[in-house]
Amino acid sequence: MNEEQAFHAVRQSLKKRRFEHTERVVEEAAKLAQRFHVNVEKVRLAAILHDYAKYRPIEEMRRTIKEKGLRTDLLLYGDEILHAFVGAYYVQQELKVNDEDVLTAIKYHTTGRAKMTQVEKVVFLADYIEPGRTFEAVNEVRDWAEKDLDMACFLTLRNTIDFLVKKEIPIYPDTFNAYNDYCLNIKRRK
Ligand code: GDP
Ligand code: FE
Ligand code: FE
Repeated sequence: MNEEQAFHAVRQSLKKRRFEHTERVVEEAAKLAQRFHVNVEKVRLAAILHDYAKYRPIEEMRRTIKEKGLRTDLLLYGDEILHAFVGAYYVQQELKVNDEDVLTAIKYHTTGRAKMTQVEKVVFLADYIEPGRTFEAVNEVRDWAEKDLDMACFLTLRNTIDFLVKKEIPIYPDTFNAYNDYCLNIKRRK
């Protein structure tokens, strides 16, 4: 699957606003990849496809998780995280993308996880700081993203957990594990 085919696939499956968000994530991710010496082609393909499943019916995604034996704990934590995990599965099945680095970047783009790959980090961060995100907390993350990929990912996780806690939304364990991973590593680095 080349970029043109990937863009074609998401143009079909996303609404206009979401497609424009995707274009900004691709630009942001490409910049980060260059800055931190991460494989730009993989990053761009994962960024193009990261929200592929965003508008799939929730019931369909829940059924896919059960029928295909994906992690069933996903069903307990609210519908927002499904499009990432099921999206990676659909991208593999429907678009025949088999590159593990691309697939895991899609899979963990919402929650993050402990020991993220470089491609995962870049897509995760780009989705959070793309220029269309206007909430106040993003500015500090943008500043760190100029120089320190791990610190920027850590702050993204901290802000996301903070946001979810304030809204009393359940937090998927991968998000906590990612937070702890960075917290411990950044502290050790100092
Ligand atoms: P988008 O698809 O570009 O809108 O962005 P994301 O895929 O990053 O996030 C979608 C939503 O998932 C956001 O509203 C987040 O607050 C929410 N989210 C992120 N992490 C978690 C989590 O651990 N648990 C739950 N329930 N929601 C989360
Ligand atoms: Fe998403
Ligand atoms: Fe997104």
